[in-house]
Amino acid sequence: MIEKVHCPHCAWKPSAEKLWHCLECGSDMDMFDNLGRCNNCGYNHDKTYCPEEYDGCGLSSPHLAWYGEFDEGLSKLNIIRG
Ligand SMILES: [Zn+2]
Ligand SMILES: [Zn+2]
Repeated sequence: MIEKVHCPHCAWKPSAEKLWHCLECGSDMDMFDNLGRCNNCGYNHDKTYCPEEYDGCGLSSPHLAWYGEFDEGLSKLNIIRG
């Protein structure tokens, strides 16, 4: 979990829990644990929604937009897999 991750629309910040469900297999997952990739089925989520049930705004954003100013640094570090 990267501390600065936040929703680009409402600045909601996720806690370090599995708040999302995989769109492919439905298992609980943390979108920021593996850059949107499901640990169960390997499905890659290129968009991440802001969960309304946890006080988010409900809008989807490209996964990297959640990292804000950090996405350029992330690509330089080459941690984006698959
Ligand atoms: Zn899955
Ligand atoms: Zn939001």
